[in-house]
Amino acid sequence: MKIRDILKSDQLTVSFEVFPPKKASSFETVRSATEGIAVLHPSFMSVTYGVGGGTSNYTIDIARNIQEKYQVPMMAHLTCISSTREIVRQQIEKIHDAGIENVMALRGDIPADMTDEDRSKWDYQHAVQLIRELKESGYDFCIGGACYPEVHPESSSSLEDIMHLKEKVEAGVDFLTTQMVFDNDLFFHFLYQLRDRGVTVPVIPGIMPITNSTQIYKAIRMSSAFIPRRFKTVSDRFGDDPEAMKAAGILYATDQIIDLYSNGIRHVHVYSMNKPDVAKGILDCLQGFVGKRMKHL
Ligand code: FAD
Repeated sequence: MKIRDILKSDQLTVSFEVFPPKKASSFETVRSATEGIAVLHPSFMSVTYGVGGGTSNYTIDIARNIQEKYQVPMMAHLTCISSTREIVRQQIEKIHDAGIENVMALRGDIPADMTDEDRSKWDYQHAVQLIRELKESGYDFCIGGACYPEVHPESSSSLEDIMHLKEKVEAGVDFLTTQMVFDNDLFFHFLYQLRDRGVTVPVIPGIMPITNSTQIYKAIRMSSAFIPRRFKTVSDRFGDDPEAMKAAGILYATDQIIDLYSNGIRHVHVYSMNKPDVAKGILDCLQGFVGKRMKHL
């Protein structure tokens, strides 16, 4: 099933993101964790992809396993920086052969040791090239793109970032998913800017439940996301109590989702970090608030 059809629903949809194993020896652990999320029947799930293709086969393996066993619509992420056209084309074929209809088309982060000269030799510079290639493949993929309410670190302004985002949409992106955002006002501000600039595709806010205190600092480092003072206070208070911190993280994420829903947002994507208990905690809390309005399979 294509995500663009799922997003036509005016009921709340909740999707979860998982990551593949880095090595074969952890495949079973990851498979089991991702199946623990699939049994909750989220609206769809996505599986991330390593830059340069390191975890490529596992991305598709994990996605296919869940889709075949649990009939949860799956999305495979695909990055293109530091990859060759040949490898990317092979991956596109594999995704199609695995029966996966949804692709999150990404550039990927530029490796720290890559010089501008190195970069100019690569086949891909930006995600828009991958999006065009997916469209030219002849397969009718539903294509997702990444966006950044707090501006991508390489952009000098939000206007510049949005103009490049618009190029991605014009190239064929069906929907956008945001980098993790902890403050809904930042998301709404960004959404209004996109609509004002003529970007009309669905924009799904990315929610990261922070369920242990070290994760907060990792999240800030990875994404430069703004963490509200209220959440830092919770972390300071409960950071050394893992159970309390997990409960607080689930409640904070749920509260964010309810606020988004109350303000007209119908689709949320949760960075569930392969944690079935956290995914279940959020869905359990949401059942109480939005009950039957939640879209399940
Ligand atoms: P782009 O869209 O290419 O944008 C990158 C920068 O280049 C931006 O500053 C943009 O404004 C600028 N730009 C875009 N087009 C042009 C152009 N034509 N000319 C000049 N400048 C341009 N990383 C992974 O490795 N694996 C994953 O699975 C993964 N999943 C992600 C999922 C989501 C929802 C998000 C938000 C991010 C994900 N990332 C993942 C991280 C992502 O790869 C990085 O943020 C990366 O730095 C940018 O990728 P992009 O696709 O947004 O790139």
